[in-house]
Amino acid sequence: MVLDMFKLDGKVAIVTGANTGLGQGMCVGLAEAGAKVVGVARRSCDETAEKIKAIGGEFTTVIADLSTTDVIDTVISEALKAYGRIDILVNNAGIIKREDAIEYSMEDWDAVCAVNQKEVFFLCQAAAKQFIKQGEGGKIINVASMLSYQGGIRVPAYTASKSAVLGLTRALANEWAKYDIQVNAIAPGYMVTNNTAQLRNDEDRSAEILDRIPAGRWGTPDDMKGAIVWLASPASDYVNGFTVAVDGGWLAR
Ligand code: NAP
Repeated sequence: MVLDMFKLDGKVAIVTGANTGLGQGMCVGLAEAGAKVVGVARRSCDETAEKIKAIGGEFTTVIADLSTTDVIDTVISEALKAYGRIDILVNNAGIIKREDAIEYSMEDWDAVCAVNQKEVFFLCQAAAKQFIKQGEGGKIINVASMLSYQGGIRVPAYTASKSAVLGLTRALANEWAKYDIQVNAIAPGYMVTNNTAQLRNDEDRSAEILDRIPAGRWGTPDDMKGAIVWLASPASDYVNGFTVAVDGGWLAR
């Protein structure tokens, strides 16, 4: 039956940026669908762990700073130590630094691209190696952005890195389809999280944004649940290399 195709019982998912915002919403969604979740962040993921415990799910935290690729082996080995396999990788951790392009520093550029782009590729590579070893395929879901499609204002490194996420998602889907690995992405619209606090505090920008969202509201972490479970589950086995917008219609405008 079709609803069974969305079940994730027995699957193990790594989610980066698991302690708050969209990552937390996706962790809970995956756990509600039956997956065991390994959450990665620099700070404690206790709040996410509590939410998952409350629904009878399983969750393990790995504290790691994803601004360096040195931690990738640890992330993979801790996930294997906790649950013995990996079936799903969600590359959600991301940062944004706002400054006029004319003043943008190399330091900010490197910081943003390290987490949003370089780490994403090498985590994909490490997970894919594990999927190939296990011989049962796998699912990778990268978190893109509206700025994978649009230019944005005062966020050049973010736009560059999120545009790279969309391209990388296509590139890896091509190479790894033969291993039954699907690589897709979700492009969230304007969502209520720490990432957008600065924007939402700017009354004029906030009103402009809201006015342009056909749904008439900002998105929430819960809005990510449907798309993440679909892309992590057998229901999407013939979907590969695509970036799905969860944006209240923003891109359609
Ligand atoms: P958020 O509330 O700021 O959360 C960001 C997450 O990334 C946190 O869990 C954070 O963990 C983690 N993270 C950042 N740098 C890290 C590092 N060096 N090492 C380990 N973890 C790190 O943002 P969010 O809105 O939920 O964003 C999640 C993803 O969605 C990001 O990729 C973002 O670009 C994307 N996105 C968001 C929106 C939006 O409107 N909110 C729209 C489009 C795309 P720590 O707190 O431990 O650092």
